[in-house]
Amino acid sequence: MPPNAFASAQLSIDLDAIAANWRALAARLKAGAHTGAVVKADAYGLGLAAVAPALHNAGCREFFTASLDEGIELRALLPDCRISVFFGPQPGEAEDFSRHRLTPLLTDLGQIELWHTHTSRGAAENPILQIDTGMSRLGLPPEEVARLVAEPERLAGLDIAFVMSHLACAEQPEHPMNEAQLSEFKAALGSLAPVLGAAESSLANSSGIFLGPEFHFDLSRPGAALYGLNPTPKKTNPMSEVVRLQGKILQVRHVDPPRSVGYGASHYVTRPSQIATVPVGYADGYLRSASNQATNQACGYIEGVPAPVVGRVSMDMITLDVTEIPPEHAQPGTPVDLIGGPHPVDSLAAEAGTIGYEILTSLGRRYRRAYIENGRERVGAP
Ligand SMILES: *Cc1c(COP(=O)(O)O)cnc(C)c1O
Repeated sequence: MPPNAFASAQLSIDLDAIAANWRALAARLKAGAHTGAVVKADAYGLGLAAVAPALHNAGCREFFTASLDEGIELRALLPDCRISVFFGPQPGEAEDFSRHRLTPLLTDLGQIELWHTHTSRGAAENPILQIDTGMSRLGLPPEEVARLVAEPERLAGLDIAFVMSHLACAEQPEHPMNEAQLSEFKAALGSLAPVLGAAESSLANSSGIFLGPEFHFDLSRPGAALYGLNPTPKKTNPMSEVVRLQGKILQVRHVDPPRSVGYGASHYVTRPSQIATVPVGYADGYLRSASNQATNQACGYIEGVPAPVVGRVSMDMITLDVTEIPPEHAQPGTPVDLIGGPHPVDSLAAEAGTIGYEILTSLGRRYRRAYIENGRERVGAP
């Protein structure tokens, strides 16, 4: 029996759409630039073991994970591509990077020294140098870049595969940070050029690709857009939809005023109402912050008709006001679209006061999962 065989809610993940999104992003790039794929956090919650091979089949040969563990898991799936690990090597990890042929990011002078020592002991993967141009987390800030330029022996014997940086505000094209980071990145590349020779470079995440060709450099690193999130939030989503979540009504109940619905009695019906219970809750990634929003209220959709979430989202269930829907169209077993179609991930995220990234990576483990590949649906684990 597949996992969660009796689950009434189904999470469908369209691998064909992920492959199409990867190709569409690749086609947007300036001539000579290519694109990788970011598959950290279990491919944004969608299942690394299914998503990574689908991207590989689409032609992707450049993958990024956040952690060493994720890199090792991915190497077992994909023997012949570059896998780069954002966190870079911590003390004691260099051997494991090499054993699994994982490419480290070097994100500060300490990691450069660590990899330098490791490389001097034998063959090692060519590392990636990360520059910080405005995130103030990983990467060399300008003063450390200056130090590298002044002390090039720190890089002696290291063949840097490429130099990268990460954008802070790419989904806001009008934000001045974009130009500021672009020029700081170019300045860093310029000052490092005599030390590094002909290294490639990488700046854009999903939204960065849409900022224009001067952000493309040699390699882009999209994640979110591959999985159907809108990289251009103020414009129509150019990506294909990937995720669909469909629940089913468990029970419908008539409620007369002045009764309340759910924990905290936070919602009182103001008219004779039909309240439908759907067994999907915050333990499944339907965030509690989507409860009782006064504006931009979260809804389930029944045959395209919105039914607002009333009362608090609980661990296992939500309650929908289906009073406006004819009873024969809202009864136990009736499908309810929670994500997808009229209500994409980004919409649920807005209703819950967050971003699509958090919705995707929170999707729970209790759904029946279906993967769509080559037009066929396969139910089961990734
Ligand atoms: C997560 C991440 C990406 C991908 O960003 P998206 O906005 O999902 O496209 C790219 N680069 C780095 C360094 C990241 O951490």
